[in-house]
Amino acid sequence: MHELGITQEVVALATEHARGRKVTRVVLEIGTLSGVLPDAVRFCFDLCAEGTAAAGAVLEIVETPGRGRCRACAAEVPLERPFGRCACGASDLEWLAGDELRVKEVELA
Ligand SMILES: [Zn+2]
Repeated sequence: MHELGITQEVVALATEHARGRKVTRVVLEIGTLSGVLPDAVRFCFDLCAEGTAAAGAVLEIVETPGRGRCRACAAEVPLERPFGRCACGASDLEWLAGDELRVKEVELA
């Protein structure tokens, strides 16, 4: 499960940012197209945070919807999966949003 590695990185980033203070809340942005499962990250978070400055911190996940642009007709296409099809029939899409994975906010005590 690669979410475990990702969650470990998120916890490492948050505790580094905290510089010895206690982390109370972490806001994580996960794009629909990133392939990362928010539920899996949630599941791993408490485990990864245990014994660190982020122990007991609240994990908030903001899911960014996927959006692409058709390379054939330049229309914007909402994407729920990494692959989509434009109304014009083309499937050559450029991703505009939805593949992000980043720590948006770290709240300290
Ligand atoms: Zn199109």
